[in-house]
Amino acid sequence: MNKVHNVGIIGGGVSGVVVALQLAELGVDNILIEQKKNVVSGPPFCHLHAGGNLYPDISDEQCRFLMKQSIEMARLFPHSIDERPTLISVPKTEKYQVENIEDRLDMLVDYYKELIEEDASNAVLGAPEDYYKIYSKKDLDALVTQPTVERPTTADEWMTNAAKLIDYSQLKMPVLLVQEYGWNLFRLGAQAQLALENTDKCTLKLNTKVEHVKDVRNKGLGYNWELHTNHTIYKVNYLVNASGYNTGKFDEALELDVKCLIEFKAAYVSKWQPIPGLIPEMIFHGKRGTSHGMAQLTPYCDDYYQIHGMTEDITLFKNGLVESIDGAQPEFDEDINRKLNYGWDKDEVETRTEKSIDYIAQFVPSFKSATVGGPPMFGAQQIPGSDISLRVGEVCFPTQYYARSEIIKASSALTVANQIIDNIQEEKVISSIPKKINSNSFLDSVSKEEIDTLAAEFAEVRGYPKQLSRLVIERK
Ligand SMILES: Cc1cc2nc3c(=O)[nH]c(=O)nc-3n(C[C@H](O)[C@H](O)[C@H](O)COP(=O)(O)OP(=O)(O)OC[C@H]3O[C@@H](n4cnc5c(N)ncnc54)[C@H](O)[C@@H]3O)c2cc1C
Repeated sequence: MNKVHNVGIIGGGVSGVVVALQLAELGVDNILIEQKKNVVSGPPFCHLHAGGNLYPDISDEQCRFLMKQSIEMARLFPHSIDERPTLISVPKTEKYQVENIEDRLDMLVDYYKELIEEDASNAVLGAPEDYYKIYSKKDLDALVTQPTVERPTTADEWMTNAAKLIDYSQLKMPVLLVQEYGWNLFRLGAQAQLALENTDKCTLKLNTKVEHVKDVRNKGLGYNWELHTNHTIYKVNYLVNASGYNTGKFDEALELDVKCLIEFKAAYVSKWQPIPGLIPEMIFHGKRGTSHGMAQLTPYCDDYYQIHGMTEDITLFKNGLVESIDGAQPEFDEDINRKLNYGWDKDEVETRTEKSIDYIAQFVPSFKSATVGGPPMFGAQQIPGSDISLRVGEVCFPTQYYARSEIIKASSALTVANQIIDNIQEEKVISSIPKKINSNSFLDSVSKEEIDTLAAEFAEVRGYPKQLSRLVIERK
């Protein structure tokens, strides 16, 4: 392997694949190394966060940032976006004020209008005036008398189906329906892998683990880094560390002074009885980490639902959030490492999934009859610095010819890729990069049918029902 690649990327999660594809689009030769059998096989994602409405505690600025980044990613990966809305509600027991949420939504509508004025193709969340709709108790009382709609197309139809199932006497009024969409990780992974296979600018190495990185920047060898893998050694000029929660391991070996947090979380897969009409995603806000943290019900196809409950018994874990102490890489305890490396005990899958079902049944009483529908969707994510409330991505360049990506939300991937491309140019690794673009011809060339087939395979390889690879609202 004497070839020297311009850029080497460790980790084929959403961050690594977007860097590789955007570099390929710009004609920059790169190598992407992923230890697993397929790309995007790390922690899950299910929600696009186009507006940050699942996070009542973050700033308006972070909400705008999330909206902009989400729109950019939805344009890159349209076949992974599930265009069903999200119900946002606040239980009467919670401190959050619905008026504050409404004010923020008005701010987001104005911002969305600005984004569409800049570029009409940004209108991926529908018309700005339809971005959200408010429902009072009187509205809900009227909607529950309407017939259920099998495949809703208007906000009122979605809300009719939801109102018939929710015990809304427990919720502060009004409630809101927002055009916050679902995001399918299997479909994103499939589109990315097919696109990577279509370009000769990226060498994709799957089933390949980078064991260690050797810094040869001052050795006059004509390249800067050696990536020692379980198969061979790859030589690269510029290194992107996109290895997810393991990012610190390489920083530590290179004696870089960086700190981060890592967090292990899980969402649960359940199967419910068939219901007569599709429902929106449902959010019941609550303070994260308390026994009444946010409850989130995410619909998938064929009566499968994913559940998050932001309590320590469900999505969060005792000792699930750890920070760097001596070195750069924080360390989980034995129990969490076992889950990450070898999977879960059957009993714990059942106990936690059943708890999650009961948690949702507080607000959707008939959901009590749901059962375990598959293994949990779990993983660890990295959080730069020490601010757990941070919800936007980051990248840093702690030494020459080296970038470390630390995205918190999958939606940050393109922003971070663009920052890395800027740095590659500043470091003069390649002579000139034409103007950056937020589109990708390799992604555009992949067909829906190819994605359907590979996404189903991705789900099954990981032990999940293949229904999780489909969209509730099928794209034309
Ligand atoms: C339960 C849960 C729910 C979430 N929900 C959402 C959501 O709804 N929306 C959202 O936007 N985000 C969500 N996230 C966050 C999201 O999953 C992450 O932000 C995102 O996956 C991070 O992508 P990444 O590419 O940085 O890292 P990863 O996806 O972790 O990718 C890193 C890759 O590097 C590979 N790797 C590591 N070490 C090596 C090595 N030595 N050699 C080769 N390969 C290596 C790994 O196998 C992995 O594939 C959620 C996270 C969790 C845990």
